[in-house]
Amino acid sequence: MILILKSGVSEDQVTHVLERVEALGFQAHLSRGTYRTIVGIIGDESQLTPESLSAIPGVSKVIPVLPPYKLASLEAHPEPSVIDVSGVKVGGGHLAMIAGPCSVEDPERMDRIAGLVRAAGANLFRGGAFKPRTSPYAFQGLGEEGLRILRDVGRKHQMPTVTEVTDPRNVELVAEYCDMLQVGARNMQNFVLLTEVGRTQRPVLLKRGMSATITDLLMSAEYVLSQGNPNVVLCERGVKGFDSATRNLFDVAAVPAVKTLSHLPIIVDPSHATGRPDLIPACAMAGLAAGADGVHIEVHDCPEEAKSDGPQALLPGQYAELMHQLRDLAHLLGKSISPLPGVAA
Ligand code: PEP
Ligand code: MN
Repeated sequence: MILILKSGVSEDQVTHVLERVEALGFQAHLSRGTYRTIVGIIGDESQLTPESLSAIPGVSKVIPVLPPYKLASLEAHPEPSVIDVSGVKVGGGHLAMIAGPCSVEDPERMDRIAGLVRAAGANLFRGGAFKPRTSPYAFQGLGEEGLRILRDVGRKHQMPTVTEVTDPRNVELVAEYCDMLQVGARNMQNFVLLTEVGRTQRPVLLKRGMSATITDLLMSAEYVLSQGNPNVVLCERGVKGFDSATRNLFDVAAVPAVKTLSHLPIIVDPSHATGRPDLIPACAMAGLAAGADGVHIEVHDCPEEAKSDGPQALLPGQYAELMHQLRDLAHLLGKSISPLPGVAA
Protein backbone atom coordinates (compact mmCIF):
# COMPACT_ATOMS: atom_id res chain seq x y z
CA MET A 1 0.00 0.00 0.00
CA ILE A 2 1.27 3.49 -0.81
CA LEU A 3 0.20 6.64 1.03
CA ILE A 4 0.52 9.93 -0.81
CA LEU A 5 0.58 12.74 1.73
CA LYS A 6 -1.04 16.13 1.20
CA SER A 7 1.10 18.99 -0.13
CA GLY A 8 1.97 21.18 2.81
CA VAL A 9 1.75 18.28 5.27
CA SER A 10 3.36 19.26 8.59
CA GLU A 11 6.35 17.46 10.13
CA ASP A 12 4.15 16.46 13.08
CA GLN A 13 1.66 14.86 10.70
CA VAL A 14 4.44 12.95 8.86
CA THR A 15 5.71 11.65 12.19
CA HIS A 16 2.18 10.65 13.19
CA VAL A 17 1.63 8.77 9.90
CA LEU A 18 4.85 6.79 10.43
CA GLU A 19 3.93 6.02 14.04
CA ARG A 20 0.44 4.92 13.05
CA VAL A 21 1.73 2.56 10.33
CA GLU A 22 4.24 1.04 12.75
CA ALA A 23 1.60 0.72 15.45
CA LEU A 24 -0.41 -1.39 12.99
CA GLY A 25 2.56 -3.76 12.80
CA PHE A 26 3.92 -2.65 9.42
CA GLN A 27 7.15 -1.12 8.27
CA ALA A 28 6.94 2.41 6.85
CA HIS A 29 9.23 3.65 4.12
CA LEU A 30 9.37 7.44 3.83
CA SER A 31 10.23 9.09 0.52
CA ARG A 32 10.37 12.88 0.20
CA GLY A 33 9.97 14.33 -3.31
CA THR A 34 10.13 17.96 -4.41
CA TYR A 35 6.37 18.37 -4.25
CA ARG A 36 5.01 15.38 -2.41
CA THR A 37 5.94 13.04 0.40
CA ILE A 38 5.12 9.37 -0.01
CA VAL A 39 4.97 6.55 2.55
CA GLY A 40 5.34 2.98 1.35
CA ILE A 41 3.81 0.39 3.69
CA ILE A 42 5.63 -2.93 3.72
CA GLY A 43 3.74 -6.04 4.88
CA ASP A 44 0.62 -8.06 4.10
CA GLU A 45 -1.65 -5.53 2.42
CA SER A 46 -4.79 -7.61 2.92
CA GLN A 47 -4.55 -6.82 6.66
CA LEU A 48 -4.93 -3.09 6.03
CA THR A 49 -8.13 -1.11 5.46
CA PRO A 50 -7.62 1.75 3.00
CA GLU A 51 -10.54 3.72 4.54
CA SER A 52 -8.94 3.99 7.97
CA LEU A 53 -5.57 4.95 6.44
CA SER A 54 -7.33 7.71 4.46
CA ALA A 55 -8.59 9.11 7.74
CA ILE A 56 -5.07 9.79 9.13
CA PRO A 57 -4.47 13.57 9.08
CA GLY A 58 -2.14 14.59 6.25
CA VAL A 59 -2.94 11.56 4.03
CA SER A 60 -4.23 12.58 0.61
CA LYS A 61 -4.50 9.25 -1.21
CA VAL A 62 -4.19 5.54 -0.44
CA ILE A 63 -3.05 3.39 -3.36
CA PRO A 64 -3.25 -0.38 -2.96
CA VAL A 65 -0.48 -2.25 -4.75
CA LEU A 66 -2.40 -5.52 -5.05
CA PRO A 67 -5.97 -5.94 -6.32
CA PRO A 68 -8.58 -6.42 -3.58
CA TYR A 69 -9.58 -9.77 -5.11
CA LYS A 70 -6.53 -11.64 -3.92
CA LEU A 71 -7.58 -15.23 -4.71
CA ALA A 72 -9.11 -14.36 -8.08
CA SER A 73 -6.06 -12.39 -9.19
CA LEU A 74 -3.37 -13.45 -11.62
CA GLU A 75 -0.78 -12.64 -8.95
CA ALA A 76 -2.22 -15.43 -6.79
CA HIS A 77 -2.33 -17.89 -9.67
CA PRO A 78 -0.42 -16.95 -12.84
CA GLU A 79 -1.63 -19.95 -14.86
CA PRO A 80 -5.21 -20.06 -16.21
CA SER A 81 -7.50 -22.17 -14.01
CA VAL A 82 -9.15 -25.17 -15.58
CA ILE A 83 -12.52 -25.95 -14.01
CA ASP A 84 -13.87 -29.48 -14.23
CA VAL A 85 -17.64 -29.65 -14.57
CA SER A 86 -18.30 -33.36 -14.05
CA GLY A 87 -15.76 -34.27 -16.70
CA VAL A 88 -16.14 -31.24 -18.99
CA LYS A 89 -13.09 -28.97 -18.73
CA VAL A 90 -13.47 -25.21 -18.91
CA GLY A 91 -10.48 -22.86 -19.33
CA GLY A 92 -6.86 -23.19 -20.44
CA GLY A 93 -7.84 -23.91 -24.06
CA HIS A 94 -10.85 -26.10 -23.18
CA LEU A 95 -14.15 -24.58 -24.28
CA ALA A 96 -17.56 -24.90 -22.62
CA MET A 97 -20.53 -24.87 -24.97
CA ILE A 98 -23.57 -24.39 -22.76
CA ALA A 99 -26.94 -24.68 -24.47
CA GLY A 100 -30.57 -25.26 -23.63
CA PRO A 101 -33.79 -23.39 -23.04
CA CYS A 102 -34.10 -20.46 -20.66
CA SER A 103 -36.52 -22.36 -18.39
CA VAL A 104 -36.82 -26.05 -17.73
CA GLU A 105 -40.04 -27.12 -19.45
CA ASP A 106 -41.84 -30.43 -19.88
CA PRO A 107 -39.70 -33.60 -20.00
CA GLU A 108 -40.44 -34.44 -23.66
CA ARG A 109 -39.41 -30.99 -24.82
CA MET A 110 -36.28 -31.00 -22.65
CA ASP A 111 -35.34 -34.41 -23.99
CA ARG A 112 -35.80 -33.23 -27.58
CA ILE A 113 -33.76 -30.04 -27.11
CA ALA A 114 -30.98 -31.86 -25.24
CA GLY A 115 -30.67 -34.42 -28.06
CA LEU A 116 -30.45 -31.65 -30.65
CA VAL A 117 -27.90 -29.45 -28.86
CA ARG A 118 -25.81 -32.47 -27.96
CA ALA A 119 -25.76 -33.57 -31.60
CA ALA A 120 -24.68 -30.01 -32.52
CA GLY A 121 -21.72 -30.28 -30.12
CA ALA A 122 -22.89 -28.65 -26.89
CA ASN A 123 -21.16 -30.13 -23.83
CA LEU A 124 -23.28 -28.68 -21.00
CA PHE A 125 -27.08 -28.63 -20.89
CA ARG A 126 -28.82 -25.68 -19.25
CA GLY A 127 -32.32 -24.79 -18.08
CA GLY A 128 -33.65 -22.70 -15.21
CA ALA A 129 -35.90 -24.32 -12.60
CA PHE A 130 -35.89 -21.23 -10.39
CA LYS A 131 -36.35 -18.14 -12.54
CA PRO A 132 -35.56 -14.65 -11.26
CA ARG A 133 -38.28 -12.68 -13.05
CA THR A 134 -38.82 -8.93 -13.09
CA SER A 135 -42.56 -9.50 -12.64
CA PRO A 136 -43.96 -11.57 -9.77
CA TYR A 137 -46.74 -12.61 -12.17
CA ALA A 138 -44.35 -14.09 -14.77
CA PHE A 139 -43.49 -17.81 -14.89
CA GLN A 140 -41.27 -18.52 -11.90
CA GLY A 141 -39.95 -21.93 -12.96
CA LEU A 142 -40.92 -25.50 -12.11
CA GLY A 143 -38.87 -25.58 -8.89
CA GLU A 144 -37.76 -28.99 -7.64
CA GLU A 145 -39.80 -30.75 -10.33
CA GLY A 146 -37.75 -28.78 -12.89
CA LEU A 147 -34.50 -29.84 -11.21
CA ARG A 148 -35.60 -33.46 -11.47
CA ILE A 149 -36.45 -33.12 -15.16
CA LEU A 150 -33.12 -31.42 -15.91
CA ARG A 151 -31.17 -34.07 -14.01
CA ASP A 152 -32.95 -36.97 -15.72
CA VAL A 153 -32.55 -35.50 -19.20
CA GLY A 154 -28.90 -34.65 -18.52
CA ARG A 155 -28.28 -38.23 -17.37
CA LYS A 156 -30.05 -39.71 -20.38
CA HIS A 157 -27.90 -37.68 -22.79
CA GLN A 158 -24.78 -37.93 -20.59
CA MET A 159 -24.53 -34.16 -20.43
CA PRO A 160 -23.58 -32.34 -17.22
CA THR A 161 -26.19 -29.72 -16.33
CA VAL A 162 -26.21 -26.03 -15.40
CA THR A 163 -29.07 -24.40 -13.52
CA GLU A 164 -29.60 -21.20 -11.60
CA VAL A 165 -29.87 -20.97 -7.85
CA THR A 166 -31.61 -17.82 -6.65
CA ASP A 167 -32.00 -18.42 -2.93
CA PRO A 168 -29.32 -19.31 -0.37
CA ARG A 169 -31.81 -21.71 1.27
CA ASN A 170 -31.92 -23.76 -1.95
CA VAL A 171 -28.19 -24.13 -2.58
CA GLU A 172 -27.97 -27.62 -1.09
CA LEU A 173 -31.07 -28.79 -2.96
CA VAL A 174 -29.93 -27.42 -6.32
CA ALA A 175 -26.40 -28.77 -5.80
CA GLU A 176 -27.85 -32.26 -5.30
CA TYR A 177 -29.46 -32.22 -8.72
CA CYS A 178 -27.08 -30.35 -11.02
CA ASP A 179 -23.41 -30.22 -11.99
CA MET A 180 -22.93 -26.45 -12.12
CA LEU A 181 -24.65 -23.74 -10.08
CA GLN A 182 -25.48 -20.58 -11.97
CA VAL A 183 -25.56 -17.31 -10.04
CA GLY A 184 -27.48 -14.97 -12.31
CA ALA A 185 -26.87 -11.32 -13.14
CA ARG A 186 -29.55 -10.17 -10.70
CA ASN A 187 -27.85 -12.04 -7.86
CA MET A 188 -24.20 -11.29 -8.61
CA GLN A 189 -24.00 -9.21 -5.46
CA ASN A 190 -26.22 -11.37 -3.30
CA PHE A 191 -23.38 -11.94 -0.85
CA VAL A 192 -25.27 -14.48 1.27
CA LEU A 193 -25.90 -16.57 -1.86
CA LEU A 194 -22.24 -16.25 -2.95
CA THR A 195 -21.12 -17.39 0.48
CA GLU A 196 -23.45 -20.41 0.36
CA VAL A 197 -22.33 -21.54 -3.11
CA GLY A 198 -18.75 -21.00 -1.90
CA ARG A 199 -19.35 -23.57 0.84
CA THR A 200 -20.04 -26.25 -1.75
CA GLN A 201 -17.50 -27.68 -4.19
CA ARG A 202 -19.90 -27.46 -7.13
CA PRO A 203 -18.59 -25.41 -10.05
CA VAL A 204 -20.23 -21.99 -10.17
CA LEU A 205 -21.19 -20.03 -13.28
CA LEU A 206 -21.06 -16.44 -12.07
CA LYS A 207 -22.79 -14.00 -14.40
CA ARG A 208 -21.82 -10.36 -14.48
CA GLY A 209 -24.44 -8.07 -12.96
CA MET A 210 -26.05 -5.71 -15.41
CA SER A 211 -24.50 -2.64 -13.75
CA ALA A 212 -21.43 -4.35 -12.34
CA THR A 213 -17.88 -3.29 -13.12
CA ILE A 214 -15.21 -5.86 -13.83
CA THR A 215 -13.82 -5.23 -10.34
CA ASP A 216 -17.31 -5.89 -8.88
CA LEU A 217 -17.48 -9.18 -10.80
CA LEU A 218 -14.06 -10.28 -9.54
CA MET A 219 -14.94 -9.26 -5.97
CA SER A 220 -18.05 -11.46 -6.19
CA ALA A 221 -15.89 -14.33 -7.45
CA GLU A 222 -13.64 -13.66 -4.45
CA TYR A 223 -16.60 -14.32 -2.12
CA VAL A 224 -16.97 -17.81 -3.57
CA LEU A 225 -13.22 -18.52 -3.64
CA SER A 226 -12.72 -17.25 -0.09
CA GLN A 227 -15.19 -19.85 1.19
CA GLY A 228 -13.04 -22.63 -0.23
CA ASN A 229 -14.71 -23.27 -3.58
CA PRO A 230 -12.09 -22.68 -6.32
CA ASN A 231 -14.42 -23.70 -9.16
CA VAL A 232 -15.65 -20.41 -10.57
CA VAL A 233 -16.36 -19.64 -14.23
CA LEU A 234 -17.22 -16.03 -15.03
CA CYS A 235 -19.76 -14.99 -17.67
CA GLU A 236 -20.09 -11.76 -19.63
CA ARG A 237 -23.80 -11.41 -20.43
CA GLY A 238 -24.10 -7.73 -21.31
CA VAL A 239 -24.53 -4.65 -19.16
CA LYS A 240 -27.17 -1.91 -19.17
CA GLY A 241 -26.79 0.35 -22.16
CA PHE A 242 -28.71 3.36 -23.45
CA ASP A 243 -29.75 1.83 -26.76
CA SER A 244 -32.87 -0.34 -26.89
CA ALA A 245 -31.69 -1.81 -30.23
CA THR A 246 -30.18 -4.63 -28.16
CA ARG A 247 -31.42 -6.05 -24.85
CA ASN A 248 -28.11 -5.21 -23.16
CA LEU A 249 -24.74 -3.90 -24.24
CA PHE A 250 -22.40 -6.79 -25.03
CA ASP A 251 -19.10 -5.84 -23.43
CA VAL A 252 -16.76 -8.02 -25.44
CA ALA A 253 -13.71 -6.09 -24.16
CA ALA A 254 -14.51 -7.45 -20.69
CA VAL A 255 -13.18 -10.84 -21.86
CA PRO A 256 -9.57 -9.82 -22.59
CA ALA A 257 -9.76 -7.29 -19.73
CA VAL A 258 -10.58 -10.06 -17.24
CA LYS A 259 -7.75 -12.15 -18.70
CA THR A 260 -5.25 -9.44 -17.75
CA LEU A 261 -6.50 -9.54 -14.14
CA SER A 262 -7.63 -13.05 -13.29
CA HIS A 263 -6.85 -16.72 -13.83
CA LEU A 264 -10.55 -17.65 -13.81
CA PRO A 265 -12.17 -18.78 -17.07
CA ILE A 266 -14.68 -16.40 -18.61
CA ILE A 267 -17.37 -17.34 -21.11
CA VAL A 268 -19.79 -15.16 -23.09
CA ASP A 269 -23.58 -15.24 -23.22
CA PRO A 270 -24.64 -13.49 -26.42
CA SER A 271 -28.29 -14.56 -25.86
CA HIS A 272 -28.88 -12.30 -22.85
CA ALA A 273 -26.33 -9.75 -24.09
CA THR A 274 -28.19 -9.03 -27.32
CA GLY A 275 -31.65 -10.56 -26.90
CA ARG A 276 -31.64 -10.99 -30.68
CA PRO A 277 -31.18 -14.31 -32.48
CA ASP A 278 -29.97 -12.47 -35.60
CA LEU A 279 -27.04 -10.98 -33.64
CA ILE A 280 -26.14 -14.01 -31.51
CA PRO A 281 -23.88 -15.79 -34.05
CA ALA A 282 -21.69 -12.72 -34.70
CA CYS A 283 -21.39 -11.96 -30.98
CA ALA A 284 -20.64 -15.60 -30.12
CA MET A 285 -17.81 -15.57 -32.68
CA ALA A 286 -16.56 -12.20 -31.40
CA GLY A 287 -16.53 -13.51 -27.83
CA LEU A 288 -14.54 -16.57 -28.78
CA ALA A 289 -12.12 -14.50 -30.89
CA ALA A 290 -11.65 -12.18 -27.90
CA GLY A 291 -10.45 -15.11 -25.80
CA ALA A 292 -13.59 -16.45 -24.14
CA ASP A 293 -13.45 -19.96 -22.67
CA GLY A 294 -16.89 -20.84 -23.91
CA VAL A 295 -20.26 -19.72 -25.18
CA HIS A 296 -23.63 -19.87 -23.46
CA ILE A 297 -26.66 -19.86 -25.76
CA GLU A 298 -30.38 -20.32 -25.23
CA VAL A 299 -31.92 -22.78 -27.66
CA HIS A 300 -35.60 -23.69 -28.03
CA ASP A 301 -37.37 -25.85 -30.58
CA CYS A 302 -40.48 -23.65 -30.58
CA PRO A 303 -39.61 -20.17 -29.29
CA GLU A 304 -43.21 -18.97 -29.47
CA GLU A 305 -44.15 -21.57 -26.86
CA ALA A 306 -41.15 -20.92 -24.58
CA LYS A 307 -41.98 -20.17 -20.95
CA SER A 308 -39.33 -17.44 -20.85
CA ASP A 309 -36.90 -15.65 -23.18
CA GLY A 310 -38.50 -17.17 -26.31
CA PRO A 311 -37.73 -14.18 -28.54
CA GLN A 312 -33.98 -14.56 -28.03
CA ALA A 313 -33.78 -18.33 -28.49
CA LEU A 314 -31.92 -19.86 -31.39
CA LEU A 315 -33.64 -22.72 -33.18
CA PRO A 316 -31.72 -26.01 -32.94
CA GLY A 317 -30.79 -25.79 -36.63
CA GLN A 318 -29.40 -22.28 -36.20
CA TYR A 319 -27.45 -23.45 -33.18
CA ALA A 320 -25.98 -26.37 -35.13
CA GLU A 321 -24.89 -24.02 -37.92
CA LEU A 322 -23.26 -21.66 -35.42
CA MET A 323 -21.49 -24.56 -33.72
CA HIS A 324 -19.83 -25.41 -37.05
CA GLN A 325 -18.44 -21.90 -37.22
CA LEU A 326 -17.40 -21.90 -33.57
CA ARG A 327 -15.60 -25.20 -34.00
CA ASP A 328 -13.66 -23.85 -36.99
CA LEU A 329 -12.75 -20.71 -35.06
CA ALA A 330 -11.71 -22.73 -32.00
CA HIS A 331 -9.41 -24.78 -34.22
CA LEU A 332 -7.85 -21.60 -35.61
CA LEU A 333 -7.28 -20.34 -32.07
CA GLY A 334 -5.65 -23.59 -30.99
CA LYS A 335 -8.51 -24.39 -28.60
CA SER A 336 -10.96 -27.25 -28.50
CA ILE A 337 -14.50 -27.86 -27.40
CA SER A 338 -14.26 -30.15 -24.38
CA PRO A 339 -15.59 -33.60 -25.22
CA LEU A 340 -18.46 -34.96 -23.17
CA PRO A 341 -17.41 -37.34 -20.40
CA GLY A 342 -16.99 -40.80 -21.83
CA VAL A 343 -16.87 -39.53 -25.43
CA ALA A 344 -13.55 -39.54 -27.30
CA ALA A 345 -12.25 -36.12 -28.38
C1 PEP B 1 -30.66 -16.97 -17.64
O1 PEP B 1 -29.56 -17.53 -17.81
O2 PEP B 1 -31.73 -17.40 -18.08
C2 PEP B 1 -30.66 -15.68 -16.94
C3 PEP B 1 -31.72 -15.27 -16.25
O3 PEP B 1 -29.51 -15.01 -17.12
P1 PEP B 1 -29.03 -13.58 -16.55
O4 PEP B 1 -28.88 -13.76 -15.09
O5 PEP B 1 -27.73 -13.35 -17.26
O6 PEP B 1 -30.08 -12.56 -16.93
MN1 MN C 1 -32.89 -16.58 -20.03
